[in-house]
Amino acid sequence: MSLRDILFVTSEVHPFIKTGGLADVSGSLPVALRALRRDVRIVLPAYRAALQRARNTVEMTQFSVHGSDTPVTIREGRLPGTRVVVWFVDSPPHFDRPGGPYTDEEGRDWPDNAQRFTVFSRAVEKIACGEAGLAWRPELVHCNDWQSGLVPALLALRGERPATVFTIHNLAYQGLFSWDVFQTLHLPQTLWSMHAMEFYGQFSFIKGGIVFADMINTVSPNYAREITTPEFGCGLQDLLASRKDRLVGILNGADYSQWNPAKDPHLVKTYNAFTLEHKAANKAALQDRFHLPREPKTPLIGLIGRLVEQKGFDLLLAVLPQLLQRQVQVVVLGSGDKSLEDRLKRATVEYPRQVSAHIGYDESLAHLIEGGADMFLMPSRYEPCGLNQIYSLRYGTLPIVRRTGGLANTVIDATEENIANRTATGVVFDDATPQALLQAVDRALALYRQPRLWKKILFNGMQQDFSWRRSARQYLQLYQRALQIKD
Ligand code: ADP
Repeated sequence: MSLRDILFVTSEVHPFIKTGGLADVSGSLPVALRALRRDVRIVLPAYRAALQRARNTVEMTQFSVHGSDTPVTIREGRLPGTRVVVWFVDSPPHFDRPGGPYTDEEGRDWPDNAQRFTVFSRAVEKIACGEAGLAWRPELVHCNDWQSGLVPALLALRGERPATVFTIHNLAYQGLFSWDVFQTLHLPQTLWSMHAMEFYGQFSFIKGGIVFADMINTVSPNYAREITTPEFGCGLQDLLASRKDRLVGILNGADYSQWNPAKDPHLVKTYNAFTLEHKAANKAALQDRFHLPREPKTPLIGLIGRLVEQKGFDLLLAVLPQLLQRQVQVVVLGSGDKSLEDRLKRATVEYPRQVSAHIGYDESLAHLIEGGADMFLMPSRYEPCGLNQIYSLRYGTLPIVRRTGGLANTVIDATEENIANRTATGVVFDDATPQALLQAVDRALALYRQPRLWKKILFNGMQQDFSWRRSARQYLQLYQRALQIKD
């Protein structure tokens, strides 16, 4: 019998709440699985902002969870535009507050994150075991990142349980808490063991997923290999290597219903691979939006992302004066570390005709950058999958990326050989240094100056298919293996 009922556990889902790629995955993969005739239900904390966006939710059931005085209510909604059920775990003391899913409005971690995601995981455990009064019980529970890492651990302590899969979207975020915090969580003491969730004197939520899930995956084949090495393993490399037979990489898909230049409502002019000249109108609009002079011929480089060390924005800043001698324009959309934000702001003041930044989160602007920029730069130090390079390919915006993680799995370097055999889709560079970044941009600029070749490479990129359908099939295979291993 093939698997049908899947509970998808996540701490963010586009369009309800988003801080990064996990939200995109959570908003797309369940839909793709449903198209493959699976009954997938999403479970998400009922953050205030998420409930506001969900509007008409229906109260389904209420129950108590171990370790919390307040009962939990499950509210049911639908993923907009789909029939996928979303269950919001409503525990007002934990989730009904302003700010983001993990941090307050100032960007500081909520001091009770361990309690918040323990309550969430306890509620998920009850749903997973058919004890929540929902008249539905999954055969498999798919957990994502540290916020739901506790779920496979709690389920492993059960006799009767569904199979479990744990996906690592970013190993660097582990959910580490002290012994004192652990004591407040009312969890079985057996979990505080180096063979369970203790990690060098701290309680590690992500270890719950890695140690106890039947199968584990990351979001690209390359990152799955990288995290078993000291350079990328964040201290967990040996554990991950010991579970190599259960660890696979499945590339994230792109949601082409949202990210398609032929239908994108955020563009001033839509286009496809045969009407690339219409990108010019979007470039002009982008230059206007960023208060840069309208210069149709000046190469325009876009960057979007969380302003954190991982993403390598500092490499760009280190080389900016030399880069700008090349007569390019640079637009940046992002928010994060204050020092990076400040350095970017200073650059915009120093080079007002060439550099502009929007500090903040703006979905619509992200689309216009993809549509209007000529090149898209991702100098990440590590990148589990990365989505913007995949969007860039579809938008005919040449990706310039470091050869790491999912970037290396999705962009094919414009070497002479790859150009000749028509597989080249972007520029890929090796070292995480300002100089290597500059050389990569120079290579991209050399291609830009050869319009016919440039168009061919963009055309190759636009033909690439990273739709969710293929990845969803791979997830189904992963689920089957998890079911077999559990039995
Ligand atoms: P990560 O999950 O590490 O943040 P990904 O590339 O996997 O990186 O996903 C990031 C997603 O978030 C992309 O869809 C990207 O467009 C979006 N994003 C990141 N920062 C911003 C921002 N400031 N404004 C709009 N979208 C953003």
